[in-house]
Amino acid sequence: MNKRTFLKMFSSLMATPIVSPVLAWALGDKLHNWAGNVEYSTERLYSANSVEQVRDFVRKQASLKVLGTRHCFNRIADSTDYFLSLKEMNKVVAIDSVAQTATIETGVTYGQLCPYLDSKGFALHNLASLPHISVVGACSTATHGSGDGNGNLSTAVSALEFVTASGDIARLSREHDGQTFEGTVVGLGALGVITRLTLDIHPRYMMRQYVYQDLPFGELKEHFDAIVSSAYSVSLFTDWQKQRVNEVWLKSRIEEGHSSPEAAQNFFGAKRATKDLHPIAELSAENCTPQMGVPGPWYERLPHFRMGFTPSAGKELQSEYFVPRRHAVEAILAVERLHEQVGPHLLISEIRTIAADKLWMSPCYGEPRVTIHFTWKPDWPSVQGLLPVIEKELEPFDVRPHWGKLFTIKPAKLHAAYPKLPDFIDLCKRYDSKGKFRNDFLNRNIFGTVS
Ligand SMILES: Cc1cc2nc3c(=O)[nH]c(=O)nc-3n(C[C@H](O)[C@H](O)[C@H](O)COP(=O)(O)OP(=O)(O)OC[C@H]3O[C@@H](n4cnc5c(N)ncnc54)[C@H](O)[C@@H]3O)c2cc1C
Repeated sequence: MNKRTFLKMFSSLMATPIVSPVLAWALGDKLHNWAGNVEYSTERLYSANSVEQVRDFVRKQASLKVLGTRHCFNRIADSTDYFLSLKEMNKVVAIDSVAQTATIETGVTYGQLCPYLDSKGFALHNLASLPHISVVGACSTATHGSGDGNGNLSTAVSALEFVTASGDIARLSREHDGQTFEGTVVGLGALGVITRLTLDIHPRYMMRQYVYQDLPFGELKEHFDAIVSSAYSVSLFTDWQKQRVNEVWLKSRIEEGHSSPEAAQNFFGAKRATKDLHPIAELSAENCTPQMGVPGPWYERLPHFRMGFTPSAGKELQSEYFVPRRHAVEAILAVERLHEQVGPHLLISEIRTIAADKLWMSPCYGEPRVTIHFTWKPDWPSVQGLLPVIEKELEPFDVRPHWGKLFTIKPAKLHAAYPKLPDFIDLCKRYDSKGKFRNDFLNRNIFGTVS
């Protein structure tokens, strides 16, 4: 930490004595995201542990961003002024077993929430590939899992509470606030500091997952709908080489009172794996949730990666594109045609399906989508050169990028892809008239004020 930074921290601390600066970052490392590819633009990280502290901090600062668990690969969370961490506000506030909802504070991660919900007899409808992420950060960016009938994770939100730019508290619910609520849930961090979320919950369920290897692309082309609808959640992992899907992960619910027959040895030409696998075949399956049909609770089967272990590869970059479900096969084949260019830079790709929703800034707004995801080797100059090539191939399919991953799609095209974006801008102005919660990423991609 240089002297200037310390003095700024100290004077801010004096100005806001109840919100404490997080000194751990100042002592060593630069403040960066999980993957290490984004070094944030300030180290002024403060921590609040009550709504009153949040309100006080928001009132005093002209510009700030909330940091979640830092798992986004782009600069959506970045700030040049102040960060607020709400990690310490991590309580499950209430479980309403009649309304089937759980209300949580903002710092809760799925890794903390899920075992607790399970112990009370409840579950969520779906999870992302990893439980390490904050629920609020995930819902703010429309993070998703897979499954034809499953909306992204933010579709579970039934109410939210946030601190607006003036320091006031806003409370919105699906039941009472219609369109305003639908515009707020996938808020990209632009509307205020979310302090509480209420989520739909369901009776707990058990699951099992099987992995199949080497599904020919010909079969995928002919039977896409049958393949992706063959389990509660289906993930297709491919390196785009040799005209095949390397691994198919089928996650099925075990319905109480129904005996589940042993899974077939063959699945559309793919062979059932004989041991647990990692999506990146060279890596240890120890980091992954149990496979081979072993029954387990929902929260230990829906994610691919286990809490307490490194998810994915660790040293990597990620991009992901959503195209309408009706274009799935054409879009997949368009990317497959780039296999020679993509191959040298790729660790693995994943294809998933997601149900439609009504959340304005969700990439699944209006119709079901298929996602084509890329886990890249950590070589940004090469990836940066490749993304426009992929995006050009996907452009005819009304492509939308993942808000938390790397993309180069121009703001004008984003605006064309999101019919509710002008309404979202109006909503942001209602809660934050001077742009306190904006940053370069939002100014460029949403508000169009930076080229
Ligand atoms: C290994 C790995 C695997 C992944 N797998 C998936 C996957 O399966 N599916 C998928 O869709 N994505 C996936 N992602 C992407 C990622 O998980 C999401 O984009 C998610 O946003 C991360 O949440 P976070 O809290 O870490 O976000 P952060 O990067 O910390 O923040 C994201 C945004 O949320 C805002 N925010 C956070 N908290 C608040 C708050 N309290 N109030 C207001 N705004 C807030 C931030 O300001 C920022 O704008 C993966 C990422 C990694 C690293």
